[in-house]
Amino acid sequence: MLRNKVAFVTGSTSGIGLGIARALAKEGAHVLLNGFGDAALIESLKQEISGQHGVKVLHHAADMRAPEQIADAVGYAEKELGSLDILINNAGIQHTAPVEEFARENWDAIIAINLSSAFFTSHYALPGMKKRNWGRIINVASVHGLVASANKVAYVAAKHGIVGMTKVIALETARTGITANAICPGWVLTPLVQKQIDALAAQKKISIEAATDELLAEKQPSRTFVTPEQIGALALYFCSEAASQVTGTSIPIDGGWTSQ
Ligand code: NAD
Repeated sequence: MLRNKVAFVTGSTSGIGLGIARALAKEGAHVLLNGFGDAALIESLKQEISGQHGVKVLHHAADMRAPEQIADAVGYAEKELGSLDILINNAGIQHTAPVEEFARENWDAIIAINLSSAFFTSHYALPGMKKRNWGRIINVASVHGLVASANKVAYVAAKHGIVGMTKVIALETARTGITANAICPGWVLTPLVQKQIDALAAQKKISIEAATDELLAEKQPSRTFVTPEQIGALALYFCSEAASQVTGTSIPIDGGWTSQ
């Protein structure tokens, strides 16, 4: 389905981004990975994904806080892989604290990585997409783009922002072959969430298992984690011809979280 398309997935050395990168490669897309991790891990991911699916897989180490490095990564995809057709804005971090205790550097980092980076990737990728009259921009937002939780002020602000940005890009590209949509996952068991489970276990002096149950019970009615594979499948739907008129949407995949 995506043979000869090129995807750039930010934050794809782990978790959801890696799940989406694998799903796109399975459908034949060449992939530019991005994100942190030791060189051996990144090399093994490149080899594994390209070996399994017969596609080209490269990695660019752009720090999503640095607009000039983002410009460089987009140029790298276009030069080394031939184009940039599918942009997955996924890189993200979390920090929790009440507003009055939320440190400025944590606010700045979350807004830069979780929100501004998606503006810069889109800014640099859209001219090529418009020239080729085909593109898919998929923003990994969150249920926190639709509803809030206490102690996540920067994350909730960034994710609501990315839902708004998705709509603007959808309007600006509505008469072209480009769509822009957001995916709004509930809890997915990745390193980002494991840290929150560990913190809950330490704070309440309970086991990791009990903390996991409590985390799910508080917000996610299904009490079951969403998987990166399921998010990859939704991304593939957005890339399909069937979804060519689906644009500007923000689709929850959340076990019922936002129905409450
Ligand atoms: P993760 O920690 O497993 O992966 C984050 C990725 O982003 C890693 O590859 C990391 O190296 C990369 N990254 C972090 N800072 C970066 C930077 N400055 N520059 C470039 N790359 C950077 O996290 P995840 O849970 O897979 O999260 C991925 C996205 O999904 C995030 O935007 C997150 O907000 C969103 N999300 C996660 C969940 C969840 O429950 N895990 C739920 C909703 C939304």
